[in-house]
Amino acid sequence: MIIAYINGRFLPKQEITISPDDRGFLFADGVYEVIRWYEGFFYDMEGHLTRLKRSLRELRIDWKETDSYPSIARELIKMNGFEDKPAMVYLQVTRGAAPRTHSFPSSEISPTIYGYAFDFVPDRKGIESGIRVMLKEDIRWSRCDIKSIALLPNTLSFQEAYEKGMKECLFVRNGIITEGSRSNAFFVINKILFTHPESNFVLSGVTRKNILRIAQESGIQVKEEAVPESSLPAIDEAFISNTSAEVTPVIEIGGMKVGAGVPGPVTRLIYEGFGREISKLKISRTL
Ligand code: PLP
Repeated sequence: MIIAYINGRFLPKQEITISPDDRGFLFADGVYEVIRWYEGFFYDMEGHLTRLKRSLRELRIDWKETDSYPSIARELIKMNGFEDKPAMVYLQVTRGAAPRTHSFPSSEISPTIYGYAFDFVPDRKGIESGIRVMLKEDIRWSRCDIKSIALLPNTLSFQEAYEKGMKECLFVRNGIITEGSRSNAFFVINKILFTHPESNFVLSGVTRKNILRIAQESGIQVKEEAVPESSLPAIDEAFISNTSAEVTPVIEIGGMKVGAGVPGPVTRLIYEGFGREISKLKISRTL
């Protein structure tokens, strides 16, 4: 039986009901977070909590108990028996239920908080061998920095990639590669690591931030500068990052081979650095 969280209670998932007037249902008026549980600890809970608070602030959703996110997530892991397994926790906060109207409802309504945990099998093949991705015009809105549940452009684009046998869709806005439908994008040109700077056109990935730090600690030169689509023939390596894919090499973009068509040395260095960080955290938890 799956135990999920709804508005202060942990219940069997099938017993949870949500109002048809919920603004998440009617307007996609809400935000979410997904965090990885590494058999004993959450990776960068602080980073996810900070981003959740920012997303809520940007949408002016007032969840007074936002600081309870870590304990809700922890409890979901415990109650579902995932303590010693790789797992993820999804948490969604919507503005709440109120008669449908574009203006915000009165301040008396409470947000709807829904969370659940699920076990997770990393895509080892993709991480080891690299993935092929497609390119597509960025059809999203211009507040991609908010982790909003309004993900239709992302799901449509990802589905298109999936149907073409590819693992991600990278977006291009005005000739610039922004990010993936569910990941941040990194490129290596002449040993320098490039990624789109934080802006309203990309989500500030928790993994992205940690990768930038790990890259710097590993002596890799980093530039938070966008890469135009026209520079693709010049790139030596590429990879995507997110909470589940960690560092996943990209070996083909829009039908064009990346470098030698195999995961490159800078990507490997960062991937190994990330792995070492996880191992260290595991050891420090068991001491
Ligand atoms: N960009 C988009 C559009 C995403 O959906 C995600 C993750 O879901 C990311 C980037 C990566 O974010 P994180 O590293 O925090 O998982």
